[in-house]
Amino acid sequence: MDLRSPISTLPGVGTWYSKRLEKLELKTIFDLLHHVPFRYQDYSEIHKISQFPVGEVATIRAEVLSVKNQYTKQGRQIQIAELYDGTGKILAVWFNQPFLARVLHPGVKAAFSGKLQWWTKQKALYSPEYEVLTDEQEGLHTGRLVPVYPQTAGVSSKWLRGKLFSVINSLREKDFIEFLPSELLTKLELNDFFLSIKNVHFPESLEIAAAARRRLSFNELLFIQLSNIFKKIDWQKNEATHKLIVEKNKLEKFISGLSFELTPSQRRSVEEILKDLEGKRPMNRLLEGDVGSGKTVVAAIASYITHLNNFEVAIMAPTVILAQQHYKTLSILFKPYGIGVHLLTGSDNIKSQKNTSIFVGTHSLIHNKIDLKKVALVVIDEQHRFGVEQRAHLITKTKNGLKAPHVLTMTATPIPRTIALTLYGELDLSILEEMPQGRVPITTWVVPPAKRDGAYGWIKEQIKANNSQVFIVCPIIEESDSETLQGVKSVKKEYEKIKKVFKQFSVGLLHGKLKPDEKNTVLDEFRSGKTQILVTTPVVEVGVDIPNATIMLIEGAERFGLSQLHQLRGRVGRGGKKSYCLLLTTEDSGGGIKRLEALKTHTSGFKLAEIDLALRGPGEILGTRQHGEANLKIASWLDIDLIKASKQVATLAVENPDKFAKLHKAYRDKLVIEN
Ligand code: ADP
Ligand code: MG
Repeated sequence: MDLRSPISTLPGVGTWYSKRLEKLELKTIFDLLHHVPFRYQDYSEIHKISQFPVGEVATIRAEVLSVKNQYTKQGRQIQIAELYDGTGKILAVWFNQPFLARVLHPGVKAAFSGKLQWWTKQKALYSPEYEVLTDEQEGLHTGRLVPVYPQTAGVSSKWLRGKLFSVINSLREKDFIEFLPSELLTKLELNDFFLSIKNVHFPESLEIAAAARRRLSFNELLFIQLSNIFKKIDWQKNEATHKLIVEKNKLEKFISGLSFELTPSQRRSVEEILKDLEGKRPMNRLLEGDVGSGKTVVAAIASYITHLNNFEVAIMAPTVILAQQHYKTLSILFKPYGIGVHLLTGSDNIKSQKNTSIFVGTHSLIHNKIDLKKVALVVIDEQHRFGVEQRAHLITKTKNGLKAPHVLTMTATPIPRTIALTLYGELDLSILEEMPQGRVPITTWVVPPAKRDGAYGWIKEQIKANNSQVFIVCPIIEESDSETLQGVKSVKKEYEKIKKVFKQFSVGLLHGKLKPDEKNTVLDEFRSGKTQILVTTPVVEVGVDIPNATIMLIEGAERFGLSQLHQLRGRVGRGGKKSYCLLLTTEDSGGGIKRLEALKTHTSGFKLAEIDLALRGPGEILGTRQHGEANLKIASWLDIDLIKASKQVATLAVENPDKFAKLHKAYRDKLVIEN
């Protein structure tokens, strides 16, 4: 059997099923085999009816005496079967499954698994799993550890179980190539691949299932690591468009001309970056640093060096607001040096920009307007995975081969190092570990509904006494996109409400559906102090810098991940004034609210990211926008040891292609879990 064949080639899977299976991202037989159960229902206990205690979960094997369809008073259909196994009688009850009578007629012998409960005065299994017993078929849905699968409309867990059972039974050892050397398996205590596929679906014990899952997790991680290494090798086949020279004394002069001293990790990152810039190969580096850790100035130093070499820099921001902000910051920074900074808009003429070396714009403007030949450095802000396809745009063909500019990607998403090295393993990593000194810590409060009015009153006092400026962030409406129409509607409603509550002050409104110049006006009015309060969707999360803002109020705080709240909180406390973060909740208590307490004690984004990771999984850390990419199908980001081992093996495999020929072939043949 060729595991790469489409699922539709399996008996009983036509186009109808293959369409639905695509919703589960299952296209090939290989995919199906890697659709692992999310839990196992323990029906392995087999009881005689007479010895089956009420309240217990188990399996019985019995003959159907009778089946009938009934209507309840509410008009619901129920199916009641009477079962007998020679030791006693019980009922089985299902809801709304009229077709059952066609399968379970009187005289049929079947196995039933479920919990025994009282049905009025009789003992009954409620909605038990059942399967008709034939001589040749062992119990599959009953009488064992039964795998339970993620399902979708039209494709039930039971259907998947049946399919997987027959596929696995028809597989031969040779269909599965064990691509890891056996001494490595022994060393890492990993099971055989084929055995693991069998055991992850139909294990004899939970320990066996766990061992199987561990092997398949390893495979998944290993292929991510391999793909990273190959991407890195590919990128390094390009030559740097321009090799730069670092003039040490001018560099030091520029640094000492700053209004502050660089932190040790800013220094280290600058060194790492400048070393790359001097190299023959194009840099591909991720600069990771918490909100406010000072990434911009690091990028500015690299830009300055590029300018000194008479080449251009393209700085890409994810939004117009951020592009404008970078433009402002960099213009001020470079003015004393006579370096022109230009903000790209939809309608300007690049060619007329003679004395400019630094171009700032959104991704699409940069792609469409900049002539890459003169660009030596591309800085990408707040997009940690600048994908292969996007990077391909940066590569130019010349007589002397392929060339690419140096690329510096920056992110404020505090991804723990191990994860960063796996998710973004194709990138080199520089981390800003500490915050600049002199930051006044932000006081954080969790505010239950009962204290809302008190909080509003306190804010009014603060505005009056200290000229405070306030962000009010509306909750995410839809997980995937806070800028949907629905999100805009709710922020407008909040805006109307806040205008009433804070009648004596002026209130601004910011959301993603505003036109760029409207956004600009709103932000300028807030920055200049014309408005005291800014009601906004979570768009402010990424990078907006208003040094005077000292109060951040977040509505529906329990709906956000800790990392995201931390990023929002980072919008205040940037100007050295005492700042506050108020987390308003919709409930008084509960786990979601308790979780928020972590923000009161922790000020490190990395620490909060780790807590998020443990509590809510990686999607939270990476924010909602990058959800998809963080999802592992089988492995877990918490499995640090396995992640490390996978990286070692991947490196070893690339260095020893002969010894790992089977692994390379599996990779080429795409017999891999695709993430
Ligand atoms: P982010 O990493 O979130 O992009 P920014 O680059 O916007 O952070 O920096 C936040 C603020 O900190 C800016 O006002 C910047 O001038 C200031 N800053 C950066 N580095 C230092 C430093 N070493 N000491 C003091 N302030 C700094
Ligand atoms: Mg920034």
